[in-house]
Order: sequence, then structure tokens, then C-alpha cells
Amino acid sequence: MDYIVAIDGPSGSGKSTVASEVASRLGGEVLDTGAMYRAAAWFVLDSGIEPNDVNKVAELLENFEVTVTPAKVTVADTDVTEIIRTPKVTAAASIVAANPAVRKRLRQLQQDWAETRGGGVVEGRDIGTDVFPDARYKFYLTASAEARASRRADETGTTKTQVLPTLQSRDAADKGRQHSPLRKAENAIEVNTTDFTVEQTVEHLLRHIQSETRASDASSLSTSDAPAFSAYDFPAAKHYGRKRSLGNRMFYSFMRRLCLLISGPYLRQRIRNRHHLPATGPVIVAPGGHRSNLDTLLVGMAVGRMSLYMAKDSLFKSRFWSSFMRIFGAFPVARDRLDRRALATAIKVLERGDVLIMFPEGARQEGSKLQPLFDGVAWLSAKTGAPVVPIGIGGSQKVMPIGKIMPRPHRIRMILGEPMPPPETGKSARASRDAFTANLSVKIQALFDEAQQWAGTPNLP
Ligand code: C5P
Repeated sequence: MDYIVAIDGPSGSGKSTVASEVASRLGGEVLDTGAMYRAAAWFVLDSGIEPNDVNKVAELLENFEVTVTPAKVTVADTDVTEIIRTPKVTAAASIVAANPAVRKRLRQLQQDWAETRGGGVVEGRDIGTDVFPDARYKFYLTASAEARASRRADETGTTKTQVLPTLQSRDAADKGRQHSPLRKAENAIEVNTTDFTVEQTVEHLLRHIQSETRASDASSLSTSDAPAFSAYDFPAAKHYGRKRSLGNRMFYSFMRRLCLLISGPYLRQRIRNRHHLPATGPVIVAPGGHRSNLDTLLVGMAVGRMSLYMAKDSLFKSRFWSSFMRIFGAFPVARDRLDRRALATAIKVLERGDVLIMFPEGARQEGSKLQPLFDGVAWLSAKTGAPVVPIGIGGSQKVMPIGKIMPRPHRIRMILGEPMPPPETGKSARASRDAFTANLSVKIQALFDEAQQWAGTPNLP
């Protein structure tokens, strides 16, 4: 890893677990800076010094050394891994952490740690604000006090009621101290983990990191020089960069009607607010949730206008399937790396005024709650100026759940939201993309809930 991922937040927000998982997925190392403050507090107590004695503590810790690895914490050959987690040391850590001299020394050690490694994932309270204000990625994890207390209780084998008061007073001390208080860095991405599992939070962070990398790589990409798929080994792929012929459009329209005719009695699709889809010009259609292989076809039929969408490249291996998918406007995208060609094609599709269907959840998911969204939709919208129309799909998981290939009859309901103007570009582009994605997520979830109610499938497993 040659960059820094800073993860800050209060106790019990899930930082440590999330940080080590993110580091291992990115192939880097992780530093738990809380363990350093705890080790310093232990050293103070062990030396018989009162943690509140600012001068003595500063003097004692002037050249403090500590080694922190995910498995072990050592101070001058003493293994303190366990003792630093005791309530006494925990309480002293917050006191010692308010001492500016201690912060200065530990900040130095943290910066040295990253410098020797060239980067890494660093978690704590002031990482994005003071220790690495220029970190490439900054996250601020939060969670309700209740959720944080119950996580801490699970870790320590106590009860939530026992943990809550200490947790709250430690939070207050960390937020209220004069030097490097706990706060969100201005450009950090805030993630509320209350209803997320560790895996979901990790996925969310990684998606951000990957889509940011993708966005910054792709912004140097000019659409005219990007090869429109010539490297893919099927010849007709080239036509995505061109205007579609009349014959092609007529065929698409014929196939769409045929699909509607066949699926009609089976699925009895109903669509609400079709007028929200602009009749001409580029549009990104962002459906949620993506619960079935049928979704793309359903949305394509609902939209009516010529639409194109990204599909995972593994589906294009067979000649038969790839021809079939191309008729319906699919183009391949690699899932495991930045796919410049796919992005360039998406831009072309929009620049020539067609509809691009893009599932902001990425892969198919399960359940009634949306997964964290990729910010690719926001990025493409900002890049091309295309508005985004959110759609909620209800019932598709019942018709064709993941793993099934034979559709079962069930109501399909789709609801279109109002078109959203593209996020702003320019100086605060990233912040406005983040805000856009957060807003999109709220809108899609509401439409998804409504469509599920309407389809009679609320509370999916
Ligand atoms: O994260 P953990 O709960 O182990 O941190 C223990 C204490 O260390 C925190 O309550 C906080 O007072 C302090 N700390 C800090 N700055 C950091 C990390 C931890 O002040 N970067």
C-alpha cells in the first residue's frame, strides 16, 4: 500500500475490526493508535505517576517507545496486550490522551510507522484531522450509543447497562478535550454503522476506495482516445461507440414489445410515474434493489427508450449469450479491476443521448434493505451532465431469486422517482458526489419500499 487510509470515530463504532479487515483486503498493514494511548497510560500507572499530573507524564513519556502489531502490544519488552484493555488502564488512557506532550510523541511514532511502510490503514480519533491531514482516504465511523455499548459489552463479556455510562463519559472526554479532540475531518466520509454488519461496513469503505481510484484514473481518460472495446474478442462490440442504426432500433423496439407480450400475463408488470423519465437526451436510470437476474430486462422494458447497461464480462464468454445480451444493449464490464473501456463506453452512450441503466448496488443482493451504493452513478452523472432517474423494483426476488433460472409468476411493480440533476463539478466535486450518492440511496430505498409494498413482497429474507 502506498497511501494512507485514515479511520476515526468513537469507541465501539467498529473501527478496529473494520480497519484490520480493510487493510488485509488492500494488502497493507494496520495501526491501532488507541492501543498506543493505552500502552502509554499503562506505563504511567506502572511508573507510579498520577495520570492527571501533566508535567510528570510529559517528562516520563518524552521518548516513549511502543510496538503495536495486530497480535501484540509491547513496551520495553513487556507484553501489555491484555493489561491495556482493563477498565483502569482504559480510564487512564483518556486522561493521558488529553496531554499535548503525549499526543505530540505518539503522533511522531504514528507518522514514523507509516513512513517506514509507505502507507497503511491507521485508526484512531485524530488520524484524519491531525496525524495525517493529507491522507488519501478518510472515514469517520459512527453508530448509536446503544449499538456501540452493546458491541463493547459483547467484547468484554459485560452488559450494555454497565458499559454505557463509561462509554459516554469517554466519548465526552475525547470530544471535549482541547488538543486534537475527536471530530470528523471536513473531507472524511461519514459512515453510520448502526445497522451494518462488519462485512457491510468493510464493503462500503472498499467500494469508496475503489471507486475513488477508478474516478481519478478515469478523469484522465478522454473519451475520443479510449478504444471502444476493440480488445474484447467479439467484433460487433465496436458499435456501442456509434449511433445505433434504424434497423437496430426497430429490432430493439420489436424485441421489447415481444418481451412485454410474453411476460405480461406472467408478471403483470405495472409502472408508476413513467413520466419522470425524460423523453429525450441522456439519462442514467438507477434501479434498486437489484434482487434478480430479471431486473435489467424488467427495467429495460419499463424504460421503453433504447437503453444500454453494464453486465459482468463473464456473461459474454459464450457467443450465443453475448449476441443475445448485445441485442438488449448489454456491454461488458470487468468486476475485479478498473475497466476503462466500460467507463468510456458508458460515457459515449450518454454523450450520444441514450439511456444508461446502472445498478448502484453493483452485484445482485438479497433482502429489503439496500446495500451501500457505489458512487459510479454520481461520477458518470457529473462527468456527462446526465440526470439520474431512480427506480424501485418490487417483486423480482419472488419471480426469480438468486440461484434460480425458471421464473415463477408473481406481480412486478416498478416506481420511477423524479430526475435528479447531476452533482456539481469543480472544487468540491467529491463532496457533492458523496452527497448525491447519499441522497440517491435514500430515494431508491423509499421507492424500493413502496414498490415492494405494492408488489406484496415487503420484508424480503
Ligand atoms: O480506541 P481505543 O478505545 O482503544 O482508545 C483508547 C483511548 O485512547 C481513547 O478513549 C482516546 O482517549 C485515546 N485515543 C486518542 N487518539 C487516538 C486514539 C485513541 O486520543 N488516535
